[in-house]
Amino acid sequence: MREREAINEHIDEIFGLVIDAHVLETFQNATSGFIINNNINYVVDPNTYRFYLDNIYECSSKRWFERLVDLFGIEDLIIEGNKIYSYELDSSRLDKFVQNVVKYQERRMIDLSGETRSLISLFSGEPPPKLKKPYCIIPPYFIIESGEELNINIDSIELAKKYTDIPIYGLIPIYYDLIFNNDILNVITNRYVEANADGYFIWITDFNEIKEKGIILKFAKDLYISLKEKIGEKELINMFGGHFSTILSTQGFLDGLVHGVGISESRDPYVESGPAPTRYYVQPLHRMLSLESATDILYNQPYRCRCPICEGTQISDMGVPDLIKHVMNAKLAEKNEILDLSLEEIMQKLQNDLDQMITINRFDLLRRRIRNYGVHINEWIKALKET
Ligand SMILES: [Zn+2]
Repeated sequence: MREREAINEHIDEIFGLVIDAHVLETFQNATSGFIINNNINYVVDPNTYRFYLDNIYECSSKRWFERLVDLFGIEDLIIEGNKIYSYELDSSRLDKFVQNVVKYQERRMIDLSGETRSLISLFSGEPPPKLKKPYCIIPPYFIIESGEELNINIDSIELAKKYTDIPIYGLIPIYYDLIFNNDILNVITNRYVEANADGYFIWITDFNEIKEKGIILKFAKDLYISLKEKIGEKELINMFGGHFSTILSTQGFLDGLVHGVGISESRDPYVESGPAPTRYYVQPLHRMLSLESATDILYNQPYRCRCPICEGTQISDMGVPDLIKHVMNAKLAEKNEILDLSLEEIMQKLQNDLDQMITINRFDLLRRRIRNYGVHINEWIKALKET
């Protein structure tokens, strides 16, 4: 967890953390210690979809693999590192799987932090600090490519209710191509609403707000709006989102979003991702760029970041810890900037910032580059405008 220090500095401004089960199992002490020390809201995403994908065998040598197979009780389903097949999950098998995954989320953080808690107690002379329960429980889920996965996900929500008193949030993982089919989306969202979870996470696979065209962003926006209408007061949180989702949240189309610090604003489940490349978050463009590109287009710009990390430093000289701290500063600042603005004002601001960055640059080449790096801003505005 190289983000620890950056998150620490802003702990009061963050609602909570979503920890992937495979991250928790890879960095057990660091992750559980961080949660206990900060006493922050947390959710453990069981990442069960990984065991349903063809590429799971590529992960079978990883540290987390054996641990999760064991804790989820799926040794007999993962034969020689192969994926789970839906036909293997008859009702009693699914019931057991759901029970294990629920128990895992309820207990794992508490069990792993036991050692840290006793140490704190030893030094302070006080009883060991209590750890909060997770903010919510996510029943097992697989990426919805067909009705089969949908049925398993819905059954899992129903079954999970037997095993926990903690609020249950259904995670709706929609295969990218399905967002073009309104009828299918309606079936999916209706089924989830009928399952009556206490809240929902949504994830359109490999949906990248920086790369999508306005019309596609509009599909996603409409999906969030229609789902939000159906669930009323219950929370709808985007599991992987960027500033576009932040904007939608200010308008009440979403109740929030999750992302990594400088990473994970989208996730393609079919590709095992490596470590994030070293990049700089350009706040007025709301995107990451290479250090070279960021240095070039922000050179001598009033739009250069003035946060305590960036002030007086060359972007090209910044190391990973500072880049991460800057991302935290910039993401929180850009959110706070629009909290009280109307949608009209937000669109105006997006356009003005981009136009200003272009016009104050005297070099044609750089103007063209900023225009290229800012193409998504025009797409966002298109998607936000259309009702
Ligand atoms: Zn900065």
